[in-house]
Amino acid sequence: MSFTRRSFLKSTSLAIAGIGLARPVIANPLNEGGDGYLIVISTWDHGLPANEAAWKILEEGGTALDAVEAGVKVPEADPNVSTVGYGGFPDKSGKVTLDACIMDHLGQAGSVAFLQHIKHPISVARLVMEKTPHVMLTGKGALKFALKNGFKKEKLLTPEMKKEWKKWKKRGGQFKPTINIEDEINTNHDTIGMLALDADGKIAGACTTSGMAYKLHGRVGDSPIIGAGLYVDGEVGGAVATGSGELVMKTLGSFLVVELMRSGLNPKEACLEAVRRIIKKNPGYEQHQVGYIALNKKGGYGSFCIQKGFHYALKTNQFTGLKESEAFLKVR
Ligand code: ASP
Repeated sequence: MSFTRRSFLKSTSLAIAGIGLARPVIANPLNEGGDGYLIVISTWDHGLPANEAAWKILEEGGTALDAVEAGVKVPEADPNVSTVGYGGFPDKSGKVTLDACIMDHLGQAGSVAFLQHIKHPISVARLVMEKTPHVMLTGKGALKFALKNGFKKEKLLTPEMKKEWKKWKKRGGQFKPTINIEDEINTNHDTIGMLALDADGKIAGACTTSGMAYKLHGRVGDSPIIGAGLYVDGEVGGAVATGSGELVMKTLGSFLVVELMRSGLNPKEACLEAVRRIIKKNPGYEQHQVGYIALNKKGGYGSFCIQKGFHYALKTNQFTGLKESEAFLKVR
């Protein structure tokens, strides 16, 4: 029997209506390790080299916090990653503006939003966490803080991205929040979010992005918002989000995932429930992608997303590679 996207959507909405968004029963992937178990998990395929950098630190006995910072700095510095840091897509006005945040096992948090000219926003976010009484700095204030703390002012718009932006303007310059659904090759945004567990059993997370391609100048997404793009609570675990930031922000997705794990759901179940919350509250969700990954304090991990096509990078002593996330909409 052929199963079209339309018939799937219909049956899905019936199923939602029928079961009243009841808690799903999913085989628990758990995969939890014992004492000293190391694990790093991050979004998309740019997570593979990022995980390697994080793993090196974990293996040498370093902290999860150092690991996630070093890990996400890899795509931040890579001009070929068009959705994070240097070489990221610009906004509508041709400017690359970056969002990032970081959290440790104690729930300490630092964040920067709408930051320009700095290649490693994640390191600025960490400094905000460690050197200021605040959690978040934005825009010019964040830039001033970074420069004062030794960061270099750099040009983040690469010639390739400038060309892309000009082509987009020629095509009419329409902003499309329908993220990577019709066209997975021309990725227009994909944040790196990373969670790691170190040998002391401490968990940390980081999240960094250039946001949605051609967004309005000044737009800030979920990625630097504590609880939306990232949340970590050392007593429970952590979660990060990627995809349509507006949907994640409106449901405080990563916080929700962590709270669901606190109340007993496994990481994958918690991610699914957070996806269901988005679906319940956002008609038109079919036009969006959101993916969550989660890690509990014992090293159990899981993910869930709206659309098929989200994958995440995983590294443990037994496994290095990409995993496909289960999706709410199984057919495109
Ligand atoms: N969540 C990011 C944002 O909305 C984009 C993404 O992860 O794809 O800025």
